[in-house]
Amino acid sequence: MSTGQTFELLIDGKGVAGDAYFDVINPATEEVVGRAPDCTRAQLDSAVAAARRAFPDWKATPIAERQAKIAAMGDMIAAHIDDLSRLLTAEQGKPLARAAEDVGGAPHFCGLSAKLTPPVDIHEDSDVRLSATYRVPIGVVGAISPWNFPIADAFLKVAPALVAGNAVLLKPSPFTPLTTLRIGELIRDLLPPGIFNILSGGEYLGPWMTSHPGIDKVAFTGSTATGRLVMASAAPTLKRLTLELGGNDAAIVLPGVDVKATAEKVFGAAFGNSGQVCFAAKRIYVHDDVYEPFADALVEIASRAKVGDGSEQGTDFGPVQNRQQYDRLRGLIADSHANGHSFLLGGDAETPDRGFFVPLTIIDNPPEDSRIVQEEQFGPILPLLRFDDIDVAVEKANASDVGLGGSVWGPPEQAEAIAHRLDTGMVWVNEFGSLAPSQPFGGRKQSGFGVANGMGGMLEFTQPHTIVTSRKAAKA
Ligand code: NAD
Repeated sequence: MSTGQTFELLIDGKGVAGDAYFDVINPATEEVVGRAPDCTRAQLDSAVAAARRAFPDWKATPIAERQAKIAAMGDMIAAHIDDLSRLLTAEQGKPLARAAEDVGGAPHFCGLSAKLTPPVDIHEDSDVRLSATYRVPIGVVGAISPWNFPIADAFLKVAPALVAGNAVLLKPSPFTPLTTLRIGELIRDLLPPGIFNILSGGEYLGPWMTSHPGIDKVAFTGSTATGRLVMASAAPTLKRLTLELGGNDAAIVLPGVDVKATAEKVFGAAFGNSGQVCFAAKRIYVHDDVYEPFADALVEIASRAKVGDGSEQGTDFGPVQNRQQYDRLRGLIADSHANGHSFLLGGDAETPDRGFFVPLTIIDNPPEDSRIVQEEQFGPILPLLRFDDIDVAVEKANASDVGLGGSVWGPPEQAEAIAHRLDTGMVWVNEFGSLAPSQPFGGRKQSGFGVANGMGGMLEFTQPHTIVTSRKAAKA
């Protein structure tokens, strides 16, 4: 799909043209999909001013009305899911069915948030006094999203922030801004002007937002390296932060598993979205007893998968999303070749004529200190690592600066006991990636702090307001 279309910012309820634009590239064809406005500092300032103007009325609006408006926004996006998914496939690369899931994340999180009302905590309710803590909105929220799940990730922030009574500025990744901007056109008349602004821009926009004195809270999803910059930049104005950062999640496969069934699930955990999932299984520790049959099964499954243009029928995995990521992954493959690692699948040196296609690649037991084990690959290259002592495997799984997720596969009791020993925010046992509506999503260590999803996620967009009222007050 090549629309070559020019998109608009959403500021104060209106579509706003850019002073300048940047091209958004289809990663399968390297053609221009469309042109996104490069938001200027003055446009950011006017969006922040609009959000600050709109905030008091929105905060005072009964939560049931806010919930109804956010639910309506979700319905509007759901009604346009086909067109939005095609646009998302064109700019992001993922197959159409996967793009529909990503776009579907918006109505899902809008619907979920529309059912949530932050609780009031009553500490004392006596003849002497009433002591209660209310959860009030923070103010203006800057939401910054990545390119791997541009829509679901954005609305995981936007929907609870709005229901909680905040005004929002959403900045999509410059690699994938178009579907988000299109959603802005669709929903702009559903909310009061200024409550929800969408700004696309280049490398300056993020830092302008994270240091802006008119923004009270930043909800950021992206790499750990950028997360550090965000935290430093937010310090002078003491902004509230939620940081959802990178991971290098381990999967541990124990003896006694159903090898074929587990290989199918681990395959999905590792290669879904072409490996571009923050909590993807990125290092697979497999017990000696099952290493060979597990590796064979994984290679067999991966060999059947079709890597291609996400807009073509039958494509299981699209290209990786952008040139930088493609070059990084090629660098990791080259590093493994240079260090004599053995490839069970993929690892081809030749490059396609066009498109950022990386073959599904499986590496056979590379050393623990190799780059492919130590770094977050964020792509379809997977190291299988052999172990014979479970304590050593757990130690290696935990020997990382990051701690987002993980998975354990094996006899349920043993696997669950191991799950309790992993230093990560989330662990799945004999399944992968499920996210119940009330389940907190977030990492430990340098995978960030704060959570998304459910009531825990909504509370991130509120602050406590405690009021203590004497019931013995002297009357005049
Ligand atoms: P990134 O850090 O490069 O960019 C994320 C967003 O931050 C983009 O919108 C980008 O424009 C913006 N940005 C870049 N520099 C900035 C700065 N100095 N200040 C403010 N904003 C800035 O990440 P990415 O490459 O888009 O995404 C991939 C990374 O995100 C991976 O590490 C992945 O694990 C992580 N991720 C984490 C989660 C999670 O929930 N923990 C989810 C998805 C992705």
